[in-house]
Amino acid sequence: MPHEHYISARIATKVIHAGQRPDPVTGAVMPPISVSSTYAQESPGVHKGFEYSRSHNPTRFALERMVAHLENTGISEEYDPSCGGFAFSSGLASISTCLELMDAGSHMVAMDDLYGGTNRLFSRVRARSQGLKITYADLTDEAKLRAAMTPQTKMVWVETPTNPNLKLADLKMIARIAKGISKECILVCDNTFASPIFQRPLEQGFDLVMHSSTKYLNGHSDVVGGLLATNDPQICAQLRFLQNAIGSVMGPFDAYLTLRGIKTLDIRMQRHAQSAMKIAKWLEAHAAVERVVYPGLPSHPQRALATRQMDGFGGMITIYLKGSLDEARRMLENVHIFALAESLGGVESLIEHPAIMTHASLSPDTRRLLGISDTMIRLSIGIEDADDLIADLEQGLAAAQKKNLTAEAQRTQRV
Ligand SMILES: *Cc1c(COP(=O)(O)O)cnc(C)c1O
Repeated sequence: MPHEHYISARIATKVIHAGQRPDPVTGAVMPPISVSSTYAQESPGVHKGFEYSRSHNPTRFALERMVAHLENTGISEEYDPSCGGFAFSSGLASISTCLELMDAGSHMVAMDDLYGGTNRLFSRVRARSQGLKITYADLTDEAKLRAAMTPQTKMVWVETPTNPNLKLADLKMIARIAKGISKECILVCDNTFASPIFQRPLEQGFDLVMHSSTKYLNGHSDVVGGLLATNDPQICAQLRFLQNAIGSVMGPFDAYLTLRGIKTLDIRMQRHAQSAMKIAKWLEAHAAVERVVYPGLPSHPQRALATRQMDGFGGMITIYLKGSLDEARRMLENVHIFALAESLGGVESLIEHPAIMTHASLSPDTRRLLGISDTMIRLSIGIEDADDLIADLEQGLAAAQKKNLTAEAQRTQRV
C-alpha cells in the first residue's frame, strides 16, 4: 500500500503504518534491517536508487518517512525519498546539521531556557568554530523576541515546553513576528518534550522540527538518535545534501528499533500525560513540596496557551521542594521505582536533579537566572501504574523530611 495512503490518516494510525510498506521481494510486513554498506550496480551508475548506505538506507528511509508523516511535512516521496524527514546518530548530531544551514558569522536567536547540551553546542562550540552570533532571549515574551531579532537573523531556535522549567513559547506568535522582521530566517522547534502526538510545529508556521528520538519517539531508553522534519522544499534539499555531506547518520538497527518504538507512541503519550496530571495534582497538595510546574495544572501561568497549542500536556513535571539541597538529595536517594537518571521520555519513570545532573554544563549564573535551584527536581513520568508512582514519591518525600538522619542511616534502617 503506498505510504501516501496514510497522509490523511489520524496520528494513531500513522504511528503504525506511515512510511512503511511490505518488502517488495518477500512481502515481509516489518521493514528489514538493511545492514549492507553498499549496493551492487548493474552497470556503472545503473542501480535501484541505492548506492552507498550513508546516502541511502532503506531502514533509515522508512523511519525518516515516518517522522515526516507524523509532523505533516506534505513533501512527496517523488520530491524527496524520505519526504523531508532525516535521521541522525543523536539529537545533537541533528542539531549540528541544522546549524550548517547557516553561513559562518550568522546571527541566530535562541530560547534562553534550552536543553543543556543544546546550549553547550551553541555557546561553546559553534560560537567559536562557526562564528555564530547567538542572542538568547525569553521567547515566551513578544517584546523580548522583537528586541532580539534583526532583519539579518538567519535562525530562531525554540524549545517548548522548555527543559526543565516547562515554559511554553507561542509558536504562532513567534512565526508571525520573526518572519515579519527577517523573511529569510529559518524557524526551528525542538519538539522533543511534546512529541508529534501533542504538538506539530509545522502546522503553526515553523519550518523545521527537531527531535531527540532518544526520548519519547523511541521511548524505551535503548537508542540514542535525532530526527528532523521540514515542510520547506528548499530546506529539504539542503538537508538532504548536508546529511550526506556531514555523515552523522542513524544506523539501520537504531532506525529499526525507533520505528518499533513509535508504533506505541500514541498510547504511550496518552498514558504519560494521564498519569502526569494525576501525580502533579497529588504533588501540589503535598506539604513537603513548595511548587509544582506542569502545563496541565490550573496554577501553570500558560495553561491557556498549552490548551490552544497542544493536544496534551505531556509527561514531564518539575517540582521545587521545601528546604535545601539536603532534602532534595534525600528524596532522590530514597525513591525506588523512579530511577535516578538523566534522560526522559521512556516507559520507565525517571527522576533527576537538573542543577547537578542535566544542567551542570550551564554556568551558575545562568542556572540562577533560569531558576534552576538546588531544590528543583525533574520527573519523567513513565507508564507504570500511577498509584504505585505516587506511593514511591510519598515515601521519598517522607525520607526527605527526616532531617536528622543521614542517607546512609536511612538505608540501613530500611534494610
Ligand atoms: C536529550 C535532548 C536533546 C539532545 O539529544 P541527544 O539525543 O541526547 O543528543 C536535545 N533537546 C532536548 C529537549 C533533549 O531532551
